[in-house]
Amino acid sequence: MKSGGPGFVGIKFCQECNNMLYPKEDKEQRKLLYSCRNCDFQMDADNPCIYVNKIQHEVDELTQIIGDVIADPTLPRTEDHPCQKCEHKEAVFFQSQTRRAEEGMRLYYVCTHPSCMHRWTE
Ligand SMILES: [Zn+2]
Ligand SMILES: [Zn+2]
Repeated sequence: MKSGGPGFVGIKFCQECNNMLYPKEDKEQRKLLYSCRNCDFQMDADNPCIYVNKIQHEVDELTQIIGDVIADPTLPRTEDHPCQKCEHKEAVFFQSQTRRAEEGMRLYYVCTHPSCMHRWTE
């Protein structure tokens, strides 16, 4: 496990259908899961505590992890959320779990264009 990253430990695959699992928050139990988009399979993350502790404050965390996330091949990527700054199509995204209940869960996006790296949240 590398230190200083956003807390992901690597790509996981569904035990049912072998598709890639994506990080997902269990809102009731407030923990991190990996879930399959192809079937209903999901599993507990190995290190939810590390993940939760690292992503507490969105502004600080986004500043700190910006260099890591676009180079992290284990993070899911999307072309459905083009960058509003440079119009680059691809962004990495990940979920945050904040301890302030009123903020709920958010998705963070980071533009993968090396000279942009614009980040935003929904
Ligand atoms: Zn599956
Ligand atoms: Zn951009």
